[in-house]
Amino acid sequence: MLRAFAIHLYSRISYLRYKMNSNCLFCKIASGQIAAKIVYQDELVTAFRDIRPVAPTHVLVIPNKHIQSINHVEADDEQILGHLFTVARRVAEMEAITENGYRTVINTGTHGGQTIFHMHMHVIGGQPMKHPMG
Ligand code: 5GP
Ligand code: ZN
Repeated sequence: MLRAFAIHLYSRISYLRYKMNSNCLFCKIASGQIAAKIVYQDELVTAFRDIRPVAPTHVLVIPNKHIQSINHVEADDEQILGHLFTVARRVAEMEAITENGYRTVINTGTHGGQTIFHMHMHVIGGQPMKHPMG
């Protein structure tokens, strides 16, 4: 109950602090307008389970601020994106996949396989990853 309230509060703060893109699915998830299985949220980032998991753990970590892709990253975003990595590590710990390892992926643009144009890091684990990539 307390956790749900904290998540709600943080989503309100992030909604107020960052200009969201009203047509963006992941902005709506970060602001609480669309439901997702949120595993972690603070004022800068949100982590939630992918709707079509490809492995036992498949979590997406996104900046609450609408950043379309790596192509749109600005120097001002460095604090957010550094924090995104810290949260990816925390997610891995919560999912107990730290020791065995996991894959982190950020797809960019059409050739990169990006389908949702709000930058996100996939944290995928719980089974051995397949090779090769690409
Ligand atoms: P991309 O292909 O852009 O790197 O990754 C987008 C990811 O978002 C995909 O893995 C897809 O399954 C996931 N996704 C798409 N729509 C939704 C949704 O409505 N909710 C959640 N939780 N994940 C979604
Ligand atoms: Zn967005």
